[in-house]
Amino acid sequence: MQENTPTVIIVGAGLGGLSLYHALIKNKDKKEFNVKIFEREASPTDRWQGYHIGLSNYGVRSLLNCVPSSIASNLPKAMPNPIPDVENHGISLTDHAGNILLQSPSRPFKDVYEIAKRSHGLSVIVTYRDRLRDVLLENVPVQWGKKCIGYEETKEGVWVFFEDGTREFCNILVGAEGINSPVRKQKLPELQIFDYEVTHVGADISIPKSLMDKLSKFHGNLLAVKTLGLKGDSSFLISRLIPIEQEQNESNIDEPHYRATLVYAYPTELDNVESDKVKVDDNDPASVIEHVKQLIRKLRPECEMTDILVELWDLAPKTIPNDSVKFPFKTYNPVQRRMYRDIDPTSIDSWKSSRVTLLGDAAHAMSPLLGRGANNAIQDADVLSQALLNYTDDYLSCIKEYENEMLKRSSSEVLKSRSVTLRQSRPVGYFGLIMRNSILKAMNTILTVYSFASGLIFKN
Ligand SMILES: Cc1cc2nc3c(=O)[nH]c(=O)nc-3n(C[C@H](O)[C@H](O)[C@H](O)COP(=O)(O)OP(=O)(O)OC[C@H]3O[C@@H](n4cnc5c(N)ncnc54)[C@H](O)[C@@H]3O)c2cc1C
Repeated sequence: MQENTPTVIIVGAGLGGLSLYHALIKNKDKKEFNVKIFEREASPTDRWQGYHIGLSNYGVRSLLNCVPSSIASNLPKAMPNPIPDVENHGISLTDHAGNILLQSPSRPFKDVYEIAKRSHGLSVIVTYRDRLRDVLLENVPVQWGKKCIGYEETKEGVWVFFEDGTREFCNILVGAEGINSPVRKQKLPELQIFDYEVTHVGADISIPKSLMDKLSKFHGNLLAVKTLGLKGDSSFLISRLIPIEQEQNESNIDEPHYRATLVYAYPTELDNVESDKVKVDDNDPASVIEHVKQLIRKLRPECEMTDILVELWDLAPKTIPNDSVKFPFKTYNPVQRRMYRDIDPTSIDSWKSSRVTLLGDAAHAMSPLLGRGANNAIQDADVLSQALLNYTDDYLSCIKEYENEMLKRSSSEVLKSRSVTLRQSRPVGYFGLIMRNSILKAMNTILTVYSFASGLIFKN
């Protein structure tokens, strides 16, 4: 490495930060950087990482642009190829009773390379978030246990400060450390987090085949399934139909189980109606699960779909598993109430490009409803790495080039996700219900026609 090789420090070894690391190292023949990456967690297994997430055609394309072939060849560990005729990587939306309102038409694809080639429409591959992070960590010299607390920008570069009292110098600092980013808070103190006043509770569960079969009577073989309630509540489940290894389910050794992420969301004000029976304590998963079950029973009419939802929540672990190896997701998701929040990066005028920039949720956290957060974080890494190939003493022009694209794209995604989330979180009366269902069914028809027509026009 040459003495004047510029140093890039990435704070946060999440999906976005790791993608950027790979992209800079992959392109070192074109432009060499000394890249260092720091993470607050003590080790790769320190914290729960296990959402199922949907990566879209453009997210997968950026991911493949970022990673070297050695990492790309391991991607099927996190994004197994779809099982033909068994799995449909689309979304199904029903009303509270399970009547179909919208089903996203999803054309089958063979693997990540085929989905990445799609340049039109939106195709999604359901991905294990924890395993994607494991794959992205391979061959990356992450410096663990290094919590960034701030920085100081000088004419020559940036000093980055860590909680353990150490500091590091770099030419460019990239804050990729999620929604609570200390780098963002220092760079843009006036940029506020928007709170939706919508609570969500998420759990990773393992579902027996018999229960999955009950669900598929309503949703077919779509992997992301959502039911809308009447009081602003909704339930979401995302899974792969690949059985978990049997030894993890000793009590039900004969029946295949599937791993799934389950989310129930509802207006936060419903948390203030104290239930007589359950005192909710976010440090006690059993009380949170009981609270969710009571809400479902209270907010939803009696029907088979309501029973299924309650049955699904009964599968959520009520205590922290003693033996994490037996638990299907390695690390455990504490079942707690959380708020939907986002950041619209263009809601302030004072964004000024400098040696300190932001990437992913640090810049533009968004509601998970449209499944765009990780996609945008990975796209950021792709765009920033391409811009940095033109790095010279005039470093500002490449940072500006990246930020112009990132701000425009991500702000639009934040606001779209916000609008859908707020609309779905509003209680509906009799006429509201008719309106909502009619609009969604009309959208369903348009999407089906569009998909059919684009299938005729575009061959891939
Ligand atoms: C329920 C749910 C479902 C979702 N579904 C989807 C989906 O279907 N599709 C999709 O595209 N997105 C989805 N997302 C969003 C997606 O997971 C995030 O947007 C994405 O992980 C953001 O990547 P990132 O690199 O910016 O942040 P992260 O992946 O969160 O990484 C940030 C890293 O920074 C570290 N860190 C934090 N603070 C510090 C510090 N001070 N110093 C050092 N390190 C620090 C953290 O420990 C972490 O490792 C979902 C999110 C949720 C909550």
